[in-house]
Amino acid sequence: MKISKIIPYPVKVGIRNQLLVKVETDEGIFGWGESGLSGREKAVIGAIEHFSEWLVGKPAFQIGSLWQELYRSQYFEGGRVLVAAISAIDIALHDIKGKALQVPVYELLGGKQRDFILTFATTSAPPGPEMIDQAKQLVEAGWNAMRLSPSGHGSKDLYEPREHVAESAKWCIKAREQLGEKVVLGIDYHHRLTVAESASFCQKMPRGTLDFIEEPIRDECPSAYHALRKLTDIPFAIGEEFASKWQFQPYVEEDILQFARIDVCNVGGLTESMKVAGCCESHYIDMMPHNPLGPVCTAATIHFAAAIANFSWLETRASPVEQYLGFDDSEIFLEQPRLNGAVLPITSTPGLGITIDEKRLQHQAFEFWEAPHLRRRDGSITNW
Ligand SMILES: [Mg+2]
Repeated sequence: MKISKIIPYPVKVGIRNQLLVKVETDEGIFGWGESGLSGREKAVIGAIEHFSEWLVGKPAFQIGSLWQELYRSQYFEGGRVLVAAISAIDIALHDIKGKALQVPVYELLGGKQRDFILTFATTSAPPGPEMIDQAKQLVEAGWNAMRLSPSGHGSKDLYEPREHVAESAKWCIKAREQLGEKVVLGIDYHHRLTVAESASFCQKMPRGTLDFIEEPIRDECPSAYHALRKLTDIPFAIGEEFASKWQFQPYVEEDILQFARIDVCNVGGLTESMKVAGCCESHYIDMMPHNPLGPVCTAATIHFAAAIANFSWLETRASPVEQYLGFDDSEIFLEQPRLNGAVLPITSTPGLGITIDEKRLQHQAFEFWEAPHLRRRDGSITNW
């Protein structure tokens, strides 16, 4: 079975663009993948178009070999844009192989290790009484793990990190008091702080308030996390932006991260995800996958999570307190993963278990989008 065509579909679904990729074969079987760069999708499409020049005609089953060829067969290998393209192609090839062999993708990854996939949810309200009400609603609906957002998180222009630290810490403390000891509670800081600001935030809370802090600082400098570790004992959840096993490597080998926020659509697809999971398993680190994209990402991540030993929770952005997409996508994604309470079932449909109305997809326009360019009060740029 040979690859015959690769079609990128950049489409706006609800509040954000998705970059879906269809890989076709000469035997009529096709697969779907998704790319997770989350912005600047046209750069990724350029990479996909380049790859398709020589991928057409290649054997669709040789996924591992094609991954090596895609990643290594250029002098300046890797990088987030190229690997976002590789990720989508790799996921689509797994979909094809599963469909061709009439097995769900998790069978290609070693088989199922669990019966369902636990998820964690995110409160959508800013720190305050409504956030705590939402957290309680999540507990009532069956979630035992959840994530809060810091104060000022929704700002589209002005963001002065220091101004939000005390407010965020205050409401984390109140949330823990109200929710009790059993709920797993975290916060996602979207890498908006410095080491000093992160330390101030963490040190304002009694020990045990948070079970994890996600990306307090940027990830380019692992030793900055070592510095932060000396200033707090809250477990770190890091990794959604990593685009290879080599980016995970110092974080795993030096025991910096405690939860691996892997994104199958950014790290290099299922092929690379399984290797990262193996590295993490050797350090007793659980995978806690990033999943704010579309149903193809969710489906691929379910198969990944089903097939590994070291898994905690999969991010879900659909819950009684958050409908992140703000859009009913069921007329586009006819068959897609659906939450059953706080868990995602593992279906045995061959391939990923995704059915897309391609005609409808063709009418779903792409919309240029640039992430907010946040500025501090003095006019300087700060992280979004
Ligand atoms: Mg995050």
